[in-house]
Formats: sequence, structure tokens, C-alpha cells
Amino acid sequence: MNPDLQRVIALQRLDSAAADAQRRLAEEPERLKAIDARLETARQHVADAKARLAENQTVRRNLEKDVAVQQGRLSKYRDQLMAVKTNVEYQAMQKEIGFAQAEVKGIEDKVLERMLEGDELAAAVKRAETELAAEQKSTDADRRALAGDVEALRTSLEKNRTERAELVRGIDPQVLATYDLVSRRRNGIGVAEARDGICTICHVRLRPQVFNNIRRNDSIIQCDSCQRILYFVPAAAAQTPDRVGQSTS
Ligand SMILES: [Zn+2]
Repeated sequence: MNPDLQRVIALQRLDSAAADAQRRLAEEPERLKAIDARLETARQHVADAKARLAENQTVRRNLEKDVAVQQGRLSKYRDQLMAVKTNVEYQAMQKEIGFAQAEVKGIEDKVLERMLEGDELAAAVKRAETELAAEQKSTDADRRALAGDVEALRTSLEKNRTERAELVRGIDPQVLATYDLVSRRRNGIGVAEARDGICTICHVRLRPQVFNNIRRNDSIIQCDSCQRILYFVPAAAAQTPDRVGQSTS
């Protein structure tokens, strides 16, 4: 194969790998944000659960104050009951006491409901806190993995730059200029495989004479349509030829 052609193919491999690494590096901030968001969601769940528990406790305390007020009324009625003179007054007072007792009972039922609900809410806080602790661990691990990825990508880019500089020194300047120009104009891809008579990237059919020349891989030939430098991959030597007449049963 033409040495320059071989080198631009290798150059393309390096440049594609570098572009891929750059793309992945560019995604890192988004990935970090997603990790932070997971932790923030878990924190928010704890805060929400705590707020619901606090609300429950406030309501319960207010109900307990109401019970105390009603019980104060009741004992006042009972004192008054001792002092009544007539049967009518006595019955009226009994009625008041009955109302107040029903009131106390109703509020006490509500207190009980709130207590049961409070137990559930306290358990929910515990659960949310456990989940937060797990999320903290998992996001810490993910952040470390992410930092490791970034480190690896930077190292590979560094290595890529060194290899590229070395490779480029050996390429004919004219060929390199052609590659760089096409690569810049064609989304970072300056080299394309020609297969079955077509450019495999822009899919344009090549003139038969041009394709025949490309098959030889001994010169720099550009696609008429996309201008990429074309090369040909011969059918693998290991490919099994048709074995006519052999039984394979
Ligand atoms: Zn093409």
C-alpha cells in the first residue's frame, strides 16, 4: 500500500478516537449534573418527609390543647352541677356535660389518628434517610468513577496527540493538507473506504476506472463527490472459498 495512504488511514483512526474522547469529555459536566440531581432528589425526599412529620406534630399539639380546653369546661360544668337547685337546671347541665364529653371524645379520636399517622410519617423519615445514605454512597462512587473516566480520557488524548505529531511528520505535506482540508469540511472524516464500487461514506458510485485504481491502494485518490481520500480493503485472505462439489452433510 502507498505509505502516505497507510498513514492517513492511521491518522484518521487517531483523529476519530480523539474526537470521540473529546465528545465524551464534553459530556462529563452533564453526567456530573445528573449525579448531583440524584443526590438532591434524595435530600428533598428527606426534607419533604420531615416537613410532613412536623405538620402532623403541630396538628396533634393543637388538638391536645383543644382537649385540655374542653376538659376544663367539663370540670367547670361538674362543679356547677353541684350547685344547681332545680331539676330543670340539673337536666340542662347534664346535657351540657354530655355535649362536652362527646366533644372531648371526638378530639381524642383525632389525636389518636394523628399519633398513628405520626408513627408512619416517622418511619417514612427513617426510610428516606436510609435511601439518602445509600444515594450518598452510590453518588460518591459514581463521582469517583467519573473522575477516573476524565483522567483516562485526558491521558488517552495526550497519547493521541503525541502519536499524531509523530505520524504527521512522516506524511507528504500535500497529502496531509488534503486530508486536513477535507476532514475540516466533512465533519472530521477525511478518509473513506471504497467498497463494491461506491464510496462507503457519501454512497456515490465511483467511475469503474477510478474504483479499479483505488483497489490498487497505490495512490492518493479522492472521492469525486465528498473529496475524501479513498482506500480499498481486499477480501480477507482467510475467507473460505466456495468448495464446489464437496459434501458437507
Ligand atoms: Zn464520497
